[in-house]
Amino acid sequence: AEIPEGNFDWKKGPCRFCGVGCGILVGIENGKAVAVKGDPNSPVNKGLLCVKGYHQTMCIQSSDRLTHALVKKNGRYVKTPLNEALDLVASKMKETIEKHGKDSVAMYTSGQSTVPEGYVASKLMKGAIGTNNLDCNARLCMASAVAGFLTTFGADEPMGCYEDFDYADYYITWGNNMAEMHPVLFSRMLEQKNRRGAKIIDFATRTTRSSMASDKSILFEPQTDLAVANAICYEIVNNGWVNNNFVEKHCNFSKGLTNMGYGMEDKFKFKDKPSKITFEEYKEFLKDYTPEKVSKYAKVSVKDIKYLASIFGDPNKKVMSLWCMGVNQHTRGTWMNNLIYNIHLLTGKISQPGNGPFSLTGQPSACGTAREVGTFTHKLPKGVVMNAEHRALAAKIWKVPVDRIPSKPTYHTTEMFRAVDRGDIKFIWTQAVNPLVSLPRTSRFRPGMQKESCFVVVSDVFPTPTSDVADVILPASWHIEKSGIYGNSERRTQHWDKMVEGPGETTPDAWMFIEVAKRMGYGDLFPYSKENHVEEIYNEYRQFHKGKKHEMAPLEVLKNQSGAIWPYVDGKSTQWRFNSKYDPACSNGEDFHFYGKPDGKAVIWQRPYEPAAESPDNEYPFWLNTGRVVEHWHTGSMTRRIPVLHRAMPNAYIEFHPDDAKKLGIRKGEKVKVSSRRGSCILPASINERGLPTRGQVFVPFFDENMLINDVTLDAFCPISKEPDFKKCAVKVEKV
Ligand code: SF4
Repeated sequence: AEIPEGNFDWKKGPCRFCGVGCGILVGIENGKAVAVKGDPNSPVNKGLLCVKGYHQTMCIQSSDRLTHALVKKNGRYVKTPLNEALDLVASKMKETIEKHGKDSVAMYTSGQSTVPEGYVASKLMKGAIGTNNLDCNARLCMASAVAGFLTTFGADEPMGCYEDFDYADYYITWGNNMAEMHPVLFSRMLEQKNRRGAKIIDFATRTTRSSMASDKSILFEPQTDLAVANAICYEIVNNGWVNNNFVEKHCNFSKGLTNMGYGMEDKFKFKDKPSKITFEEYKEFLKDYTPEKVSKYAKVSVKDIKYLASIFGDPNKKVMSLWCMGVNQHTRGTWMNNLIYNIHLLTGKISQPGNGPFSLTGQPSACGTAREVGTFTHKLPKGVVMNAEHRALAAKIWKVPVDRIPSKPTYHTTEMFRAVDRGDIKFIWTQAVNPLVSLPRTSRFRPGMQKESCFVVVSDVFPTPTSDVADVILPASWHIEKSGIYGNSERRTQHWDKMVEGPGETTPDAWMFIEVAKRMGYGDLFPYSKENHVEEIYNEYRQFHKGKKHEMAPLEVLKNQSGAIWPYVDGKSTQWRFNSKYDPACSNGEDFHFYGKPDGKAVIWQRPYEPAAESPDNEYPFWLNTGRVVEHWHTGSMTRRIPVLHRAMPNAYIEFHPDDAKKLGIRKGEKVKVSSRRGSCILPASINERGLPTRGQVFVPFFDENMLINDVTLDAFCPISKEPDFKKCAVKVEKV
């Protein structure tokens, strides 16, 4: 990107888009953001940005920016003073609670919200109103990662950091197109590949830009990653590559379901409770996963399975596993996370520089906001609602009676929108999310949001298909128009100061929550000032982390450095957790201590292969996979308003293998209808342009609100994490 020349005032912050959390410098001239460049002092990106990063501020100049509150009156949106709109939101919320109970109101927030925004949302819903009807869109991307961490280690978020990239000999990417989704980290891998011969092994269901740049690409049949991961474990065990010392000291073996306390047990296929097993029993289980057996249905050669296992089996090589949506958006997403950990635990390749499983996040604050401050229905800031000790701590810090915080989670995302449709939720407020484009099987949820029975409030920066059904639209500040804090993939918390004034009555979401809370009579719980609420909220949130060597860095540290990685102990970030060399919380004198678990041991789980929720058949013969492209951020509501990105990728497409296209008589650019049992969508065909699906599969990016592929996807989800599987369902395709 060309950076305009000029004598700008450069202001520092994190990027607005993905979970890498690159440091940016925004050039300000006459109060306007006119340029962006990478921050050379940021340890995250060392001055580099991707195409989205360079052009990010261009969207705020878009002519259709939401600058004032809009209230629907007689079917038309009427420009309304923000104060009046907030009065209406507060009175509707209060009235709904009085008439129908506190569980009739809900909030749906985002991994793009800031840490203070997530924190006050959690405090308002769980502490003030007393309902757990709060979930966030990280449910659609990171819930399986969370459940994977909690079941294996008893503690959320990766134990390593980005410095791992500089030490690893191998990067195994599991179902992940990092070249487009995490481009700056992919560049870091390429740099290490060129500089010292580190190898990238791409393990995926289709050929992507990442596969093309990797040293080896291994393709597998959708859903069989479960079996291949077990086959890798089989090879590790049967070739004597287990790090026995590590496993004996630091691991337990277990089997069973492990529900996360959400209820809905009746929906689980596997009802067995978790129980410990012996290493011998685990070995017996693995006998069903010999490379020869798995190869037949995974369509991965025996040689490639053995090759993957040998990488992990080599004690002299450092290996990072990297994954994101391909593993998480999976009806067995939690199990897939567990299985990757199994491989690293069996070989002891964990929590050391260059060695470790690394779950990447998609959103700029999926870690900070969604996971750390309690915007999932089951979570509290640094805790879970099911745990009496965590509720007591929240009640103490929030100064509310402990029994006001309910102990049972309520609706995870898909259930929340089903409850809207049923009429059980009569008021919903969404912020920085676009569920009517991003939910799986969107067509199922759209009618519920349009019903008179539910009052819909949408806070956003631009109009979206979700704001189109709102009763009130609130004009939110864009990220550089407010101060904020994000938490990135490596547990780095980054603060930024407001850089420019937003237009009209645009206001930070946190401040709109506080204003509504005050109007509902909870003013004493939200004693923050408009000017300093970000700092005041963060300082309150830090109280949740006091003690146990688990602190968040003081605000001054976040301001003066490029953020800090938690746990921040004795004035230092902890880069590798659970390893006593680096983590002061390892207090038992051992080399490793997985202190999230009561006995300090991580769990190697017995996780079987299970078929997908829906597979191709005669009527719907193709697998559909959905995902992102480098030019666009999620549902495209921001990046499609950046002219250069819009020109580069103006619309969605359906990608075919050339053999399938030939068989169907489809040529590049021709209109194709893709249909599932749930809905259909018409898109232009793409053949041999960007990626290459495997024969029998098609791929569609989901950024385009005019071509809603999520009308076609399936809303089946992982029974443990409740994260839907956007990556596979059965479809048919026809030329239009
Ligand atoms: Fe922003 Fe992610 Fe690109 Fe970095 S890699 S510039 S965080 S979108």
